[in-house]
Amino acid sequence: MKLFDVYPLFDIEIVSGKGCYTYDDKGQEYLDLYGGHAVISVGHTHPYYTQKLIEQAQKLIFYSNSVKNSLQVKLAEKLGKMSGYDDYALFLINSGAEANENALKLASFATGKKKVIAFQKSFHGRTSAAVKVTNNPKIVAPINDTFEVAFLALNDIEAVKSEISKGDVCAVIIEGIQGVGGIQVPTAEFMQQLSALCKQNGVILILDEVQSGYGRSGKFFAHQYAGIRPDLITMAKGMGNGFPIGGVLISPAFKPVYGMLGTTFGGNHLGCTAATAVLDIMEKENLVENAATVGSYLLKELKNFKQIKDLRGKGLMIGMEFEEPVKELRQRLLFDYKVFTGAAGTNVIRLLPPLVLTKADADKFLERFEKALK
Ligand code: PLP
Repeated sequence: MKLFDVYPLFDIEIVSGKGCYTYDDKGQEYLDLYGGHAVISVGHTHPYYTQKLIEQAQKLIFYSNSVKNSLQVKLAEKLGKMSGYDDYALFLINSGAEANENALKLASFATGKKKVIAFQKSFHGRTSAAVKVTNNPKIVAPINDTFEVAFLALNDIEAVKSEISKGDVCAVIIEGIQGVGGIQVPTAEFMQQLSALCKQNGVILILDEVQSGYGRSGKFFAHQYAGIRPDLITMAKGMGNGFPIGGVLISPAFKPVYGMLGTTFGGNHLGCTAATAVLDIMEKENLVENAATVGSYLLKELKNFKQIKDLRGKGLMIGMEFEEPVKELRQRLLFDYKVFTGAAGTNVIRLLPPLVLTKADADKFLERFEKALK
């Protein structure tokens, strides 16, 4: 059997990793400024994380959600404290798309409505709120018709007001910082107005922090720069440092009912162990602060490159927009200078390194970036 060929691949096989570095099958080292789509938070094969996974795997990997699982409780307590959402409840699943699907379901249960406001260039996974799942214009979502989605311009509060005034909106879903859309940062003022508008009109505000959450932005969640408290917060990617796990943080206004949500694999023993180990390391190594400090340093230094038309982002979530397509530059970075980066659309390079990136690693990147630009 062959693989269903949906991913364009670099002709490189990564077989091991350590911290911010990965190694291919020939032993070549790469500086990883992409972290596999923002997934690697505490670094590749962190010894504490790996040890915790091994210990748990030797005991029990999975049992169903029909029996008590104290690992879920421990994870929820730690996550509540570290994120500042102690009073919210946690529902565990396995991916970002699932987190958003469950959040949308909760919003429609709570309001009895099915119209969702999302924003242009947003990406919420392969969900009901997906607009365009690929750059191939032939493939356009919404994938199913459970929800009707209105796509509005980011930071345009008047457009949101006008859509909400129609009375049929159940939820607004917005990324803390748009990732796939090219690191577009909503303004704090827009976020605050959006939050107030949702509250006034009984509309559920869903903050998709799948990419921008878990310390990446230099705060636990990117929306915390605006000082708002959304009704639902979705997360995945960095949560398990590569082990698939996602979550929805649910405000106390939502009352759980048996059978309301459900999943087979969500909250399994290995996943909870991975996610708790990630939080332990983030706390011990001050990784949220590290993302803020090293991220600010990178942003400051990158300002010196005149070739970058627009520089955006917060913490270790950085977008560099160029006048011209970045495909060749990324290839030079990868093949000549052994640096992994990501792209967004044709003209934006995305940097989403592990949160353990040091200033020395950042300098190494800047040096190689300068050479690759020449
Ligand atoms: N939401 C955002 C903001 C994302 O960036 C992504 C993935 O890139 C998703 C949701 C979907 O996550 P997953 O691929 O785990 O389903």
